[in-house]
Amino acid sequence: MNHTATQDRVRPLKVDFAQRIQSWLRNVTSPDGSLPDLDSIPQLVHRLFQDAKDERATDIHVDPENGTLCIRFRIDGVLRDVALIPRQHGAQFLGHIKALVDLDPTPLLRPAAGGTLYDLDDAEVNLRVTCAPTVQGEKMSVRLLDPRRVRYTLEELGLSHIQKEKIDQWLESMSGMVLVTGATGSGKTTSLYALLHQLKSLNCSVVTVEDPVEYRIEGINQIQVNEARGITFSETVKTMLRLDPDFLMVGEMRDRDSAEAALSASSTGRVLLSSLHSRDAAGAVTTLRNLGIQDFEITAALELVISQRLVRRLCPDCKREEPTPTEDRGWLEALEVTAPATSWVPSGCDNCRHTGYRRRIGIFEVWYVDEDANELIRRHTDEKSLRHAIRESGTKTLLEDGMAKAADGITSLAELRRGGSYGFGISHK
Ligand SMILES: [Zn+2]
Repeated sequence: MNHTATQDRVRPLKVDFAQRIQSWLRNVTSPDGSLPDLDSIPQLVHRLFQDAKDERATDIHVDPENGTLCIRFRIDGVLRDVALIPRQHGAQFLGHIKALVDLDPTPLLRPAAGGTLYDLDDAEVNLRVTCAPTVQGEKMSVRLLDPRRVRYTLEELGLSHIQKEKIDQWLESMSGMVLVTGATGSGKTTSLYALLHQLKSLNCSVVTVEDPVEYRIEGINQIQVNEARGITFSETVKTMLRLDPDFLMVGEMRDRDSAEAALSASSTGRVLLSSLHSRDAAGAVTTLRNLGIQDFEITAALELVISQRLVRRLCPDCKREEPTPTEDRGWLEALEVTAPATSWVPSGCDNCRHTGYRRRIGIFEVWYVDEDANELIRRHTDEKSLRHAIRESGTKTLLEDGMAKAADGITSLAELRRGGSYGFGISHK
């Protein structure tokens, strides 16, 4: 009886758009030169976006390769080929997509980006198009932002009960600065929005400064940085403070300017949420130091660090438990972690398009910065010693959280390994 539901989920990749493109190409290249009556370019592009959304793709890549354009979808973090278009026809596609976001449809001489809200049959998506000239030709990537993605709760993202409790603990006092950290594409924005939603329900005034605003949220004031028009981070943060918010969110602290602006905002007694690039919780302190923030400023502001990365979930329909594979065993040994005797491995079935994985989940390290940790930061303790102290205080590391999720069969050791050892490379003995 599960059968029908399972069948419904089976949507073979690259069927619709790829088939249509084949018919279209046959037609435009037919000797009699007849005009294609199957689909127009706008219809084909629409089909491409609809397919991408149906496949849960987060990005569409259009890559020039040996006289063709290769179209790929990024699904659960992995790129998959969708279709090839001869370059002479591909130019029309690129031109149409660029025109949609108000970019000059002719080949560009320098990188350019644009965005728009685009209506699909069943939803609205936010498209962010980036184009760059390369030696092979023009490359384009389209990020599809599904507004529904911002409605996740913290639990749905994969935080454990204990980790959620630490966040609740902070929500009760609600002061200082909360940082969500990780590499690019680790789901930081989604977590920040999940936190914002939680705050919004508390009837507080929330103002955000983002570059760019990726998702629009009802009931939250979002300001977009526009350096080209002179709306800089520090200017925007000043504007933000005049709006008298209870909570501020600064999309990402990526340079000294934005970090200082954000810190100065939090020193006015407002609660600040932001994201940062770092390998783990201890690494966040190093990143702040590298951005020119003083140790005393860090201890005055920093309350909570949520460090994360994304891993694919094992397909529940085909995963198997087996003796732990040699590669995984070797990888864990190099990290000084005892490998389990058996572990869950991907297999592959129609429901996961034979990849063995379906959807993703976060692995987290949630560090509530207590007085002991503040003392260490004040004494300018190095990252390694700080990391050791955080672990000693009982905070579960990214690798430990990943191992727990692998032990539960939610993800695999191979999937943890695939992301590399960034953030994992510490002694766990
Ligand atoms: Zn499967």
